[in-house]
Amino acid sequence: MGSRLKWVFLALLAFVAGQPERCAGELPKIRIGLLRGQERIALSGPAGVTIQLARSHRVVAWLPPGETWHITPQRGALRLTSDRSEEWFATRRLRLLPPEGGLVTVQGVEGHWDGIVDRDYRGGVEVVLRGDRSLTVINVLDTETYLRGVVPSEMPSRYPLAALQVQAVAARGQALIKAGRHRREGFDLCRTEHCQVYGGATSESANSDQAVASTWGEVLEYEGRLADTLYSSNCGGHTVNNEDYWPDQRPAPYLRAAPDFDEAALALEFPLLEQEMHQYLKYAPVVNCNRPRYARASKFRWWSVVPSPELRESLVAEIGDFGELLDVRVTDRAESGIAREVTVVGSGALRTIRGGAMVRRALGGLNSAAFAIEPIGRSDEPPVAFAVWGAGWGHQVGMCQVGAAGLADEQRDYGSILVKYYPGCDLVRRY
Ligand SMILES: [Zn+2]
Ligand SMILES: [Zn+2]
Repeated sequence: MGSRLKWVFLALLAFVAGQPERCAGELPKIRIGLLRGQERIALSGPAGVTIQLARSHRVVAWLPPGETWHITPQRGALRLTSDRSEEWFATRRLRLLPPEGGLVTVQGVEGHWDGIVDRDYRGGVEVVLRGDRSLTVINVLDTETYLRGVVPSEMPSRYPLAALQVQAVAARGQALIKAGRHRREGFDLCRTEHCQVYGGATSESANSDQAVASTWGEVLEYEGRLADTLYSSNCGGHTVNNEDYWPDQRPAPYLRAAPDFDEAALALEFPLLEQEMHQYLKYAPVVNCNRPRYARASKFRWWSVVPSPELRESLVAEIGDFGELLDVRVTDRAESGIAREVTVVGSGALRTIRGGAMVRRALGGLNSAAFAIEPIGRSDEPPVAFAVWGAGWGHQVGMCQVGAAGLADEQRDYGSILVKYYPGCDLVRRY
């Protein structure tokens, strides 16, 4: 090979080697549960849909564009009907595939923001019969295409690009680490906030697509292992240790409680004394997740009055009967200010609830575990209600989504925002 030709060859090789693999066939596949426990499913495809037997991949039917097909169980197998025709398959599992790059429309899927609508999905859709009557619908697609439907569902796509990129990297890590969580039901992740919200192609937008494409394959690792990049809506001003929220978890070195503000600019030093905490929960300090452009005021600071019978009912459901409800006290706060322990004073028993997650649930699904609670009523009688006021929204462990948008406004890039919320982690490309 002539030396000039050799250099051209080497340069070409270097160029090809440097290109990220973008062949969808080689990306990790992921199975997302769209619907469970259905007795009837309606589907269509704007460009038609091919139906395969899921095991053998043998094509058994073609659904014409625009026609709606209903799938119901019949004699232990799947029956398809449309207005015009009917098919019956001696199988419990079918795969529906649109033409290359096309969509399958699943009708009547409840969205996170937009109620029950018909949703479009990329990739394939499997319909599985479980037991005699219960149908499950699963979207099978590659991880990057999945993320195009997650990022805009988890964060408004009007947020700055750097914040959407932070969301893309965190969501990619959650997809990989949570894969298999719903194995028993036949899929990897569900499409709700239990795993992370996935709205399919219907929710895609140009901004969030750009965030996914520009972070292609990137995840955070801690000491060479995939990091559990947890995130939640609004930390209220201070993030939370994972073991304070979930006491059965081991402390993760990168999920540490930290101020979500510039400590040089704001005189607020955690841990706060109980009285200071009450003040902090009532006022609105200038922190990363308190920017009017991004934070809904009700998510950053909130309050409610809960009638005693209502509060008692949710407490009893979690911790059993304790007689008449006399008081609820925060008896231990973590450094971040969340209630790590709450004591319920009943006429028949004294009960303690530990860990932010359990506290939130037992108190009827509070917006966050960073709160104060006080009885309302005459001091010589059981309280008629309780006043609750608090900060933030969600578990507040890891990345603060609204805070990430606030930091992006200060021209921080996504790498530096990720390191702020997941200290000690490295940004690496997985594929
Ligand atoms: Zn789930
Ligand atoms: Zn925050």
